[in-house]
Amino acid sequence: MRCWTWAGSAIRSAGLLLVVALLAAGCGGEPIAPAGGRPQVLTTTAIIEALAKPVAGGLLDVRSIVGPGVDPHEFEAKAADVRRVRAASLVLRNGLGLDAFLDRIVAGVDPQRIIVVTDGIALRTLGGAPDPHVWHDPMNDILMVGRIARAFAELDPPNTQRYEANAREYIATLERVDAEVRQLIEAIPPANRKIVTDHDAFGYFIRRYDLQFVGAVIPGTTTGAEPSAKELAALEQLIRAEGVRAVFAENSVDPKVAARVAKDTGATMVSDLYGDTLGAPGSGAETLDGMLLVNARKIADALK
Ligand SMILES: [Zn+2]
Repeated sequence: MRCWTWAGSAIRSAGLLLVVALLAAGCGGEPIAPAGGRPQVLTTTAIIEALAKPVAGGLLDVRSIVGPGVDPHEFEAKAADVRRVRAASLVLRNGLGLDAFLDRIVAGVDPQRIIVVTDGIALRTLGGAPDPHVWHDPMNDILMVGRIARAFAELDPPNTQRYEANAREYIATLERVDAEVRQLIEAIPPANRKIVTDHDAFGYFIRRYDLQFVGAVIPGTTTGAEPSAKELAALEQLIRAEGVRAVFAENSVDPKVAARVAKDTGATMVSDLYGDTLGAPGSGAETLDGMLLVNARKIADALK
């Protein structure tokens, strides 16, 4: 295995963006090759990668630090991630406590190279803290796509119009998905529109489509907490009292406790709702728009 990492450095000359790959010292991490000499954009999560890739349209090399299927709440950066962050032309992050691992590794990185894509979104709060799971409302995704297009235009001004056109195209996709999700949810009888999830990740989806959040197996908006026996008993009682038809487990969270709650209450257990990350290739949920639709179909099917 070759044991150096690459760092990309952009040099603008006569209106052209030239990307020069520089060898940086370092052994023991995975080699990071500049893909076709394109500027490197890192995202903290697979969700932001999925929003940024359609905007980049292949002009930039966009990759996520946290891979698909991995829980960002519990993620710890490795030495190779630190090198990638230092070498990247731009870092796009969610903020709001979801990708706190980045705070520990950005010392010395120019803050102008780090963009918080959730800036300007009307946040819901829980216990005084902002809920970071904004991407479950396509209107928030549209705002983030606009923010990302502006960041790309600043990074690579000659291609501004292409980033703007790509953003418009993906925004149109998100608007179509929003209408389709609404249709799916409106087909659920109103009395059945009650949601119990693994952790409280779907607040923005619930708010957008007028569902009722009954409770989460894991208390709070992170995945780190453990529910107490008392909390679980209270949730099960609520599920029975409200006649909740399904408990939704997430693809990046251990479904063991959710399965027990479903079994105890007689609710249907639905696995692999996509909360904090995307699906594998072929799941239909490997894009952000696909993820929203797959989730809506699973919810609509289970609550009919
Ligand atoms: Zn989460």
